[in-house]
Amino acid sequence: MRIDIITLFPEMCEAVLGESVIGRARKSGAIDIRCHQLRDYAFDKHRRVDDTTYGGGMGMLMMAEPIALCYEDICEQLSEKPRFIYMSPKGRTLTQNKLKELSGYENICILCGHYEGVDQRVLDMYVDEEISIGDYVLTGGELPAMVLTDSLARLQKGVLSDDECFEMESHYDGLLEYPQYTKPQTWRGIGIPEVLFSGHHENIRKWRREQSIVETAKKRPDMLATADLSDKEKQLAEDITSAEN
Ligand code: SAM
Repeated sequence: MRIDIITLFPEMCEAVLGESVIGRARKSGAIDIRCHQLRDYAFDKHRRVDDTTYGGGMGMLMMAEPIALCYEDICEQLSEKPRFIYMSPKGRTLTQNKLKELSGYENICILCGHYEGVDQRVLDMYVDEEISIGDYVLTGGELPAMVLTDSLARLQKGVLSDDECFEMESHYDGLLEYPQYTKPQTWRGIGIPEVLFSGHHENIRKWRREQSIVETAKKRPDMLATADLSDKEKQLAEDITSAEN
């Protein structure tokens, strides 16, 4: 997958995306992430990319033309049009299901807004969808774009090692992850569930599944409505949620 990020602060994005798992994945070629300085597509001598809003009001708005030029330039480098996403508090909230859907695209282009946002005309002309990272407003789209890029990149083949596999993690199958423990076996007098050092893989798998349901019922009962549960598991979830209330 290739992800192109259109931003006024490419250094901010590079600082995040050059480190840790994603940094290593970029170096190994498992994912191709490119940050584009929007100012390079400004057309006046002051490299201006924003202006005042028609109708009055406080603050500046990002102009349509530099964004269109940058996006068109990116499209020319690709064999197929990218899925173009604008990070916006007006968008649909990002979920693991949305990530699964987006991970099917070869090319993704992300626009980071700033100031009061972006001229609506370029959004209407080019953007495929708007995505929000939650019902609150940040100063710019860079942090939301980092959230989207990181969560999307780790679903790509070769980005995570087998040890870090995402399929057992929270939200992947509609449940929260089971509790986990590491060495020492006894910490400050507190042990760990015996089944985890039994070496019995099937019993460990069953314990983890049950604990996932318990965690979800306690912390996010709203997720149970769409989780794929057997009748016995539904009963367990119901027992936990009624005990919690
Ligand atoms: N005036 C806009 C509004 O009321 O909807 C908010 C603009 S915000 C100050 C500047 C930029 O930050 C937005 O264009 C967007 O790219 C980004 N942004 C802010 N909050 C966000 C959120 N919750 N999710 C995704 N992007 C967000």
